[in-house]
Amino acid sequence: MSNPHPLSVWAQNVSPSPTLEIDAKAKAMMAAGDDVCSFAAGEPDFDTPDFIKDAAITALRAGKTKYAPTPGVEALRVAIAARYGAEYGYLVKPNQVVVSPGGKFSCFIGLQSVCNPGDDILVPAPYWVSYPEMVKLCGGRPVYIATDDRTAFKLTPAMVEQAITPKTKAVIFNNPSNPTGVLYTRTEIEALVAVFLRHNLYILSDEMYEHLIYDGGTPTCIATLSPEAAARTLTASGFSKSYAMTGWRLGTLVARPDIAKAAGELQAQMSSNATTFGQYGAIAALNEKDKARESLSAMKLAFDRRRKLMHAGLVAIPGMTCVLASGAFYLFPNISQFGLPSVAFAARLLETEKVATVPGLAFGAEGYLRLSYAASDETITKGLARLARFCASLKS
Ligand SMILES: *Cc1c(COP(=O)(O)O)cnc(C)c1O
Repeated sequence: MSNPHPLSVWAQNVSPSPTLEIDAKAKAMMAAGDDVCSFAAGEPDFDTPDFIKDAAITALRAGKTKYAPTPGVEALRVAIAARYGAEYGYLVKPNQVVVSPGGKFSCFIGLQSVCNPGDDILVPAPYWVSYPEMVKLCGGRPVYIATDDRTAFKLTPAMVEQAITPKTKAVIFNNPSNPTGVLYTRTEIEALVAVFLRHNLYILSDEMYEHLIYDGGTPTCIATLSPEAAARTLTASGFSKSYAMTGWRLGTLVARPDIAKAAGELQAQMSSNATTFGQYGAIAALNEKDKARESLSAMKLAFDRRRKLMHAGLVAIPGMTCVLASGAFYLFPNISQFGLPSVAFAARLLETEKVATVPGLAFGAEGYLRLSYAASDETITKGLARLARFCASLKS
């Protein structure tokens, strides 16, 4: 029987999230008793700190179980505005802040606030898997700018100039980057932002990993670079990575008041406020600074150690090279010497050695693999030995 009403173009064109898919497959194998070393996760392996949980539990018991204002509980918007002032000297008012159900949704409503059907949106590759899908769901066209490990996956102003068309409306910029972990310096960003602004682009700046930086690097809050940058930058961040709160679904968007208002109105029709009592946990995360600093330092110390452990293991494998990236919790080794496309490489690695990774192709970068070091030292040591054995089998 022919179907006179096929599903919508939105439904037909959306791709499933390959990272969530592989993570789910690895978890299913583990549940079935397989000894899997998973480097596929996109989340900290730490639990949310107790003081944050306690604040949410207290709020829940106190009856914070009703709708809250769509853009967020006022005290949380005040705390978020204050933290941008304290951390970056970025002076924003609470009406420039939208609290969303997850940083992913913050990115989406930010993009939807500025992108029209038919617009070109620049997406540097390797990209976070959701960006192209978000652009398409806004009716826009993702215009990829390919980078590779020869420039440590960094864009140059010339690469941006070449990609810009008369239809280019915005650029999505993610620093530190998922999937590469790479951190741009402030000077590098200034040069790129000059090009973005010269072409009147909006900048969706995804700063989700701003607190997970090693080697003494610092995050750059793009909106603080100039008043023009502040006017055209939509800053997305959230609680998922910095506070190990992925399951809480709490993201933030900071932008010009008119943009923040529009984003809040879009959210009002698509989902309303982020979970009310959860927002009280986020208030504690921001206001109880000593406790927050303590848990973040412990997490960073572990990530940094594992980063070095994993990197050393990767570059010890004959034929493999890897940029020692200084942000987030990912490494993105080059596997092009092994003669297998990344999807086949990752699938065979999972089958034969029970090591879960994400193929570079998922991020628009063939010839690479993403490994998350949000895993225990033992898992890293064991998994890297298996990966080395797998690579040796391919070479012989
Ligand atoms: C994890 C992540 C987010 C947001 O995550 P949420 O779980 O939706 O808060 C946004 N951008 C990047 C690049 C991420 O890796």
